[in-house]
Amino acid sequence: MTPEEFRKHAHELVEWMASYMENVGKYPVKSQVKPGEIFSRIPGKPPLKPEPFNFLMADLEEIIMPGITHWQSPDFFAYFPANTSPPSILAEMIIATLGAQCMNWETSPAAAELEEKMMIWLRDMIGLPANFEGVIQDTASTATLAAIVTAREKATAYTANSEGINSGRILRVYCSEQAHSSVEKGVRISGIGRKNLVRIPVREDFSMDPEKLGKAISSDKKKGYLPCCVIATIGTTGTTAVDPLRPIGEICSKNHVWLHVDAAMAGTALILPEFQWMLDGREYIDSFLFNPHKWMFTNFDCTAFFTKDAESLIRTFEILPEYLKTRTRGKVNDYRDWGIPLGRRFRALKLWSVIRSYGTEGLQEKIRQHIQFAVKLKEMILKEKDFEILAPIVINVVCFRYAPSGNDEKQLNDLNEKMNHLLNDSGKIYLSHTVLNGKYTLRMVTGQTNVTFDHVEKAWRLILQTARSIKL
Ligand SMILES: *Cc1c(COP(=O)(O)O)cnc(C)c1O
Repeated sequence: MTPEEFRKHAHELVEWMASYMENVGKYPVKSQVKPGEIFSRIPGKPPLKPEPFNFLMADLEEIIMPGITHWQSPDFFAYFPANTSPPSILAEMIIATLGAQCMNWETSPAAAELEEKMMIWLRDMIGLPANFEGVIQDTASTATLAAIVTAREKATAYTANSEGINSGRILRVYCSEQAHSSVEKGVRISGIGRKNLVRIPVREDFSMDPEKLGKAISSDKKKGYLPCCVIATIGTTGTTAVDPLRPIGEICSKNHVWLHVDAAMAGTALILPEFQWMLDGREYIDSFLFNPHKWMFTNFDCTAFFTKDAESLIRTFEILPEYLKTRTRGKVNDYRDWGIPLGRRFRALKLWSVIRSYGTEGLQEKIRQHIQFAVKLKEMILKEKDFEILAPIVINVVCFRYAPSGNDEKQLNDLNEKMNHLLNDSGKIYLSHTVLNGKYTLRMVTGQTNVTFDHVEKAWRLILQTARSIKL
């Protein structure tokens, strides 16, 4: 494809992109295809001869679009959002065009220095102390793994990296029963082992019980284990519960344990002064992450990872083969030493574009609206006697179920599961679920970039209607 042909296709593609944004609400939110349907429509062998780009665009409409679940639809209320926005997409086009591989400073000084500055902007926007430094990671899962491995190295005086994990005492990691599965994954991959992940029971509001954490650590120490890391969650995936950082941090500090905070979705709410309470105890944090790729309108992937101990992070991950030696080493940030992959995309440009385009006030206004929608949704649900709210509404997630009287718990679980499938199969809205205290719970997240109160109200009417039309 010549630059001239590229220009023509790109102009057409931009038309397609803008129309998609305008019409995304008209597609079935959740893809309605059956397993294997898309696979069987793609030729078994690649073409031998060059094909015009138009062929691909035709197949995109024909074959691919039916198999897309529309995360950017304002009727998408499932999981946590993976929001994009026009300024983020524009920046992504620039990133792809430059195609820079930003593994160290020299391979694109602008990428390294913009990243350093964006991390300062974000750190100050969310209220982390000024002694924190940041780096962009691909996902929260990778960032949590990086934190666990750093904690492992610190606890073992960097011997696990050199001698292997079996050379010393058995390490222990702690998180609440509601922590994300990425914590277990990190504990497994780091060689610490799933058995050494201690899940601390939660309180009634689904946040970690710090007293039980203190007891678990003392008891482990008596048994000869080496506690190395606590992972606290700000905004759990099930219900957005907030683990109390101050008492957890005091325990970590007393026991010399690394405190990592996973604020993947809820971290964005910290740009609002009224949510700064979630960071009370921030002085105890060793590392912290949140995902602008969830709720901050920056398309996947972009995880902001902060630590006040970049030295330990770098000491854990740096590796310097001859072919990576540069003359600027030690004077600049070589971000390949701040995490797991060597190669790095120029993600800072997306953040720059999004933050400048919205302004911090624009971001705050949007986030506040989303939070208001959750409050109003809760009020609508509370008006219906045959519905129950199952968790406190902290941010932008409402957990509820249909609970008509005269049914036992098993019947209610079946009923709500059936309702969830009916709603999602309708293509009109998309919800996901969790289980709380044994109860099948519907989760509705009001955080999609373009969601309005009309969308929330329309979804609620559909839920009511569907619930009451189900025959038991
Ligand atoms: C979504 C989520 C993650 C995982 O995020 P990735 O960036 O997809 O790895 C981790 N923790 C919490 C609390 C989450 O909600």
